[in-house]
Amino acid sequence: MKLISLPAFTDNYLWLWQQDANAVVIDPGDAQPVLDALTHHGLTLAAILVTHHHADHIGGVARLHQATGAPVFGPAREDIPQPFTPVMEADQLTLMGHKVQVLDVPGHTAGHVAYFVPYAPQSPVLFCGDTLFSGGCGRVFEGTPAQMLASLDALAALPSNTRVCCAHEYTLSNLRFAAAVEPHNTALQTYTAHCQSLRAQGLPTLPAQLGTELQINPFLRTRHPDVQHAVAHHAGLSQTTRTDDVAVFAALRQWKNDFK
Ligand code: ZN
Ligand code: FE
Repeated sequence: MKLISLPAFTDNYLWLWQQDANAVVIDPGDAQPVLDALTHHGLTLAAILVTHHHADHIGGVARLHQATGAPVFGPAREDIPQPFTPVMEADQLTLMGHKVQVLDVPGHTAGHVAYFVPYAPQSPVLFCGDTLFSGGCGRVFEGTPAQMLASLDALAALPSNTRVCCAHEYTLSNLRFAAAVEPHNTALQTYTAHCQSLRAQGLPTLPAQLGTELQINPFLRTRHPDVQHAVAHHAGLSQTTRTDDVAVFAALRQWKNDFK
């Protein structure tokens, strides 16, 4: 089993999950890089998985489906190109011989789903679209901060050796913000140096390790006293508000939205 990140647009990754001569693609915003990779590696497309309805995640779905006949699975509560099999929380798929669990992770969009492969060889794999990024999280466009926090909590509860396949290479800019929130986090400093070196070599920083994210990603650390303190100070939260998880998360997300 292999995870191949195909760069697309300015900072997207289209993930190709390869198993022997087959592959599953996740969020093909563009068809051509996927078709090229299938040809290059001699792979048959077994399925197309979609996490949410944004154009940079679905733009290539129709053409890929037409070109390969691969079945499409997508969020039941979102409008994505037909025909597709709608999936939601607790659904279980079997793809290329592997169990894939569907998780509802609303917040970035109202019906966003993630795909979790618990028994992938070596370690579990998560395809989380625009919900969790390395060092950050997606913007809350359609859901509420409470929903997004609950979604991130659900992802944070997965095994710590889970490989996290995010849909964008936002890591370095996320880590710049993370350092503003937690300037004394040594794990964050070590991880930042590691990611800077990867990017300098033109390599992706992904997949991320969930266990590392728990140590460095402020959006998974909104209950940590250092993060609460920094957010309260930045946003001027009152003594009672600063221990309200959702209020801290919302203020942290707002801080990131405004961060230059
Ligand atoms: Zn998106
Ligand atoms: Fe996106």
